[in-house]
Amino acid sequence: MFATRLIRAGELIIAERPTVLASKKVSPEPSFNDAALAALSDGARASFMALADSCSPELSHPLLGRIAINSFDSGPMTDDEDTLVEFAATYITLSRANHDCVGNANYQWLKTRWCGQFFAKRDIPAGEEITVSYTFALTQAERHAALKERYSCECLCKTCSDATPEDVRRSDQQRKMVAHVRDALQSALYSSLCPTVSEESLQRVLEHAQEEGMMISYATIAFLASRMLTKREGPVVALKWLKVARQAYVTTLGKEAWEVSQVDKHGWFLTTVLRSRGAVYSWP
Ligand SMILES: [Zn+2]
Repeated sequence: MFATRLIRAGELIIAERPTVLASKKVSPEPSFNDAALAALSDGARASFMALADSCSPELSHPLLGRIAINSFDSGPMTDDEDTLVEFAATYITLSRANHDCVGNANYQWLKTRWCGQFFAKRDIPAGEEITVSYTFALTQAERHAALKERYSCECLCKTCSDATPEDVRRSDQQRKMVAHVRDALQSALYSSLCPTVSEESLQRVLEHAQEEGMMISYATIAFLASRMLTKREGPVVALKWLKVARQAYVTTLGKEAWEVSQVDKHGWFLTTVLRSRGAVYSWP
């Protein structure tokens, strides 16, 4: 999949309904899988069958072998706590995107529109391949092991091909740092202890996240930083970080994402607090 024109960061590249949507929990009988394949239109079936097959002996049915290595997570289909079963969505077009350890696009399942979407994580020039990350493991060694296990393939992505051993060491360190700070901020939300991490340190971590293409972590850290700084520095500083979080979530997941609605709730709360003190602030 290649960009035919300049695609700006945050642009919706493609939205597509899945061809096959399968529960990750239930393993249907072969006759059910046969019926599911037969129910597809001729064009959809031909395109689905042209996808790579895992050829795993445990996934002997052609439907399951293709779902195993071409599907994206689509999350639960309902809000019912008792039936929070994850689904795997396989697409005619999205499933053909290749992997890169720093993909330039992010996949997002949007339940309200019942479709998968790719958003540009950064500007993508015309002619560049559109890639997503198949694994979010932190170190290069872990990512390569994950790709080997699920797809039985070596990582030939551009990021890994271009990287020197020093680049890999630095990247591994940066990713671990981003994950560590994100998890520490998350834990602090449920603790009475307030982390002493400075705004300058947080800014550096965001730069690492951006460099590594970890844009969901980028947004999450900015959001959690805002929550932490509400207590420590007050609503004006918190609002500044919340705006960074909103921008990052909108860019990576689209403005209809659930995460954006959560950020907005806090934004409206903070602006209400500030207005009650006579200050003029608006959200978003
Ligand atoms: Zn790679």
